[in-house]
Amino acid sequence: MVRLLSAWRRDLVCRDAVALMTDYLEGSLTGRQRARLERHLAGCDRCGEYLRQIRVTIDVLGRVEPEDLEPEARDELVELFQRYQAEAELEAEADAAAEAHVDDTDGNT
Ligand SMILES: [Zn+2]
Repeated sequence: MVRLLSAWRRDLVCRDAVALMTDYLEGSLTGRQRARLERHLAGCDRCGEYLRQIRVTIDVLGRVEPEDLEPEARDELVELFQRYQAEAELEAEADAAAEAHVDDTDGNT
């Protein structure tokens, strides 16, 4: 239960991180938001890679809005998160299954 919730939370934080990235690069985040994002980026390769891609885009275009991203890039991001979420769910299910052996809960009626 706890692990399922933490997997869901981790995914939500990733979405938050992506939402904050353009503001982060434009320097319009508060210190607390920036610290939170940087802490997430330090532990999340996927978001780190996405930030790197946005930085490259900014180098080319000068600035970037979410709407400026190539449709392919957005599709890629959506796919990335879906895959990430699926992995997190699989991990959570594996953990739950392992725990079920110990704590033989019967969820079915
Ligand atoms: Zn992330």
